[in-house]
Parts: sequence; structure tokens; C-alpha cells
Amino acid sequence: MKSSQPKNIVILTGAGISADSGIATFRAADGLWENHDIQEVATPEGYARNPELVQRFYNERRAQLLEPQIKPNPAHFALAELEAHYASNALGHVTVVTQNIDDLHQRAGSKNVLHMHGELLKLRCVKSEEVVGWRSSQPVTTADRCQCCATPQPLRPHIVWFGEMPFYLEEIDYRLNQADLFVAIGTSGNVYPAAGFVASARRLGLPTVEFNLEAGSNASQFQQAIYGRAAVTVPQWVDALVRR
Ligand SMILES: [Zn+2]
Repeated sequence: MKSSQPKNIVILTGAGISADSGIATFRAADGLWENHDIQEVATPEGYARNPELVQRFYNERRAQLLEPQIKPNPAHFALAELEAHYASNALGHVTVVTQNIDDLHQRAGSKNVLHMHGELLKLRCVKSEEVVGWRSSQPVTTADRCQCCATPQPLRPHIVWFGEMPFYLEEIDYRLNQADLFVAIGTSGNVYPAAGFVASARRLGLPTVEFNLEAGSNASQFQQAIYGRAAVTVPQWVDALVRR
């Protein structure tokens, strides 16, 4: 092992890594997500106003995610391979922090994944906040109820909406403090707090690498940038790291 081999790596992934798997994502520029106004389908106020519409929207996203042609792409598989290689050779710890709500990292074999914006295949009791799996294209209705409360409660999507606090922020901060390398793949650099992780990493003195189709909003903060399709560039990077 060379001295330049990073031990603990934190990898932030965003929509760009799932784009090659055919998943349509929210575009910040026009405020629309599959022709729906973000205010209607991705805020607590939107859910309070029209829970049927919100459930229908996520039912459609969930059904799309479970279509047979939606599969992890080589970038997802490469990150899973990197994690497994690090674990089996006791080289260190690879953590994937994802802004994505799909399960493509897990399907590719990644185990150490923090879904900071929630997960499409999970629901949450609105009262107790107990999380339950919903790995089915069967629609969720506003009549579906939890099994955790004495008076059964509605189940909302386990998604972090605008105006809500992302998950795992303390855990992510801890991982960054343990890391020797910070990598961002396919993130726009528009959505905080994720967009601020590169600044945290640099304050901690970590090398920072960005993989993107083109320069992102906070590209200048990264020490190294690799542009191109993640499905091509990420496997090349992982190959080089694994063969050191
Ligand atoms: Zn409950």
C-alpha cells in the first residue's frame, strides 16, 4: 500500500449518478419534478393541503423505480466494489452519503449508505415517526395506517421535504472528521447542507474530488474535477484506487 492511499473515504452522491440508470429527478432550475410543482409535492405544507396528490406522486416514482429496466449502473457497482475491497483488506472505511431517494446503491451491493434525503421505498408514521419498508409498486393510499400507534396513524413518504431537516447530519459530520478524502459524484452543488460538505472537508484539510457531467455551482471549491458520465469516470477512478 502506498502512503497516498486514502483510508477513510466519504462519497457524496446525487442525481447525476442515477441519471445513467434512467431515473428522472427534480431539476432545480424550473422548480418542477416530473411536471409537478415542487411546492405541491415536496413540502410539508403541500402534503397537509393535498395528501392524495402527494401519495399519488410518490406512488408513481416508486413504481418507476421498481420497473425492471431501472438498474444500478457501473458507477453504483464501482462504489460497492470499492467498499467491499476496503472492508475485505481492512484498508479503511468507505461511506456513501446520498441525496438520492432510490435504492440503487444497495442493489449494487453498497452496505454503508446514509440516505440523507430519505428513501422512496420506506414510509413513516406521522405520529411516532417509526419507519416501515414499502418495497412494492402497490400504491400507498391516504387510508393506509401504521401498526405502531394505539390509534393507527397515516403513513407519509419517508422523504425529506423542503423545509425539513435532512437525516444523519451528525453521523456525516463524524464520518467527515474521520476521513482522508472527500468525493462528490453527480451533485448540483445547489442543495444545502449537502452542497456545504466540500467546504467542511476543506476546513478539515481533506483532498476533494468532484465527478460531474460539467462544472457544478460549487466546482471551484474542489481541488480536482473529473468531467464526464459517472458510469464511465467512476469505475476508472475506482479501478486505479483498488489496484494501488
Ligand atoms: Zn404509528
